[in-house]
Amino acid sequence: MNVLNRRRALSAAAILTGAILTVGLTSPALAAPQQSVGGGSDKGSSTLRKAVSAKNISQHLKALQKIADRNDGNRAAGTAGHVASAAYIEKQLKKAGYQTERQPFSYDNITLDRAEFSQTAPDTVDYTSPDQFFPMDYTGEGDLDGVHVTPVDINLTPPRASTSGCEPADFASFPAGDVALIQRGSCDFAVKAANAEAAGAAGVIIFNQGNDVPGDDRVGVLLGTLGALGIDIPVLGTSYEIGETLAASPDTAVRIVIETTVVTIDTFNLIAKTKKGDPTKQVVVGAHLDSVTEGPGINDNGTGSATNLEVAIQLAKTKSVPKNQIVFAWWSGEEDGLQGSNYYVSQLTDEQAANIALNLNFDMIGSVNAVNFVYDGDGDAFGEAGPEGSAQIEKVFNDYFTSQNIPFAPTAFDGRSDYFGFISAGIPAGGLFTGAEGIKTAEEAAEFGGTAGEPYDPCYHAACDTTKNVSKKTLEQNADAVAHAVYTFGAVKTTSGHGHGHHGGHGKWGKGTGHGDWGWGWGNGKGHGDSDDRWGKK
Ligand SMILES: [Zn+2]
Repeated sequence: MNVLNRRRALSAAAILTGAILTVGLTSPALAAPQQSVGGGSDKGSSTLRKAVSAKNISQHLKALQKIADRNDGNRAAGTAGHVASAAYIEKQLKKAGYQTERQPFSYDNITLDRAEFSQTAPDTVDYTSPDQFFPMDYTGEGDLDGVHVTPVDINLTPPRASTSGCEPADFASFPAGDVALIQRGSCDFAVKAANAEAAGAAGVIIFNQGNDVPGDDRVGVLLGTLGALGIDIPVLGTSYEIGETLAASPDTAVRIVIETTVVTIDTFNLIAKTKKGDPTKQVVVGAHLDSVTEGPGINDNGTGSATNLEVAIQLAKTKSVPKNQIVFAWWSGEEDGLQGSNYYVSQLTDEQAANIALNLNFDMIGSVNAVNFVYDGDGDAFGEAGPEGSAQIEKVFNDYFTSQNIPFAPTAFDGRSDYFGFISAGIPAGGLFTGAEGIKTAEEAAEFGGTAGEPYDPCYHAACDTTKNVSKKTLEQNADAVAHAVYTFGAVKTTSGHGHGHHGGHGKWGKGTGHGDWGWGWGNGKGHGDSDDRWGKK
């Protein structure tokens, strides 16, 4: 689970809106399932569920803990701890008969070492981050003191529509060496910053637009991204109010200090596909294998990684045959901004993207003060539905938990884990999450047990995220739900143990394709492939 990142949350909202619009325009609405998929078929998955035990998963967790212990206490992307973790997973998969593949990639990991921002004239005001300003992702560095501020084509009069900084012409009379004061609106932050840099600006302040838009914060501190490295001057976002203050006097000057360190990380995703199963109806079952550098990452995300590994092993051991190909993926670089899963999606051709029926994501599923969260695919709880099909994924989990009398609750698609790249590309997604740094409410404690007022995971991103930081009961419940979902979406037939009698004729979702028992009514290549990077826009 990635660090709570309001920038990404904002972006997620924008992308989701876009994805829904795209699907709505290009693809016929998906008919509701004729019959509850999960509720009616929990018996079918029982062989696999029984085979997938918390006991075995805990053995994998112990192995990951040992690896962290031998490698500076962590398994972060680009470190020996991650490589050893991947080697362990590979060894286990090979024993079970899988072929594995490493997908190498690299990225620039940027650490912010120093960020200071003050108004120095006509008044002196120190601002704090992140409450009053925020350096944009991929900002350049700088050390400016008492530098004059020049507003660029801003519009403080409602409806405050502007193309501030979007055109080079906006900078026609801009004094080189000044700090550009730019308003949010009309174009990417990167475009505004690049135009300012080209005009000789020493730094850029982009303030929020100032309009009250429900569901979109256009007033508070602007948390944005420039999308990539390339701007060499400091660029920060701030609130509408501070922008208005800076624009109020012709004598405004500021101090801006931004220092960063950029490290290139070389790492890889680990992929294993079932040999059987239709490769045009792939179920991508993902978990990030990398930890943060601060700890061994056993709940985050040893639990998801080890559970997916055990499900893969038991699929093979129970001689289960999927009708839809199952692609197990252990992503890397998740903790540095969903790097591996985004890379995987970015490398898909349109055809390959269309062949992915859905993504299941498991990131932290053994929290000691847990709530059994299910991603809110239909958007009924948080107003942000996933792409078409995500509602049905949520329903499979909900129906399963209901059939087992296990309580569950929805959690938002807030962009904090690896489903993000998939939903951004219009691919439906879903999954489970048992809580990170969030605080358990009294209502949740009444329903799920545990301690109200305490975090779901008290060792989130900390050195104490060890094998002691996992609830076996939560892991067992969630691992069974993972097995059930893989069974259901993989349209798996188990030849050992009891039957699969609930397949025939049931659960044809939408217009069936004629293949398999679970006709994938969504997708058909439509609605996929719209992977515009909407980060940092408007
Ligand atoms: Zn995490």
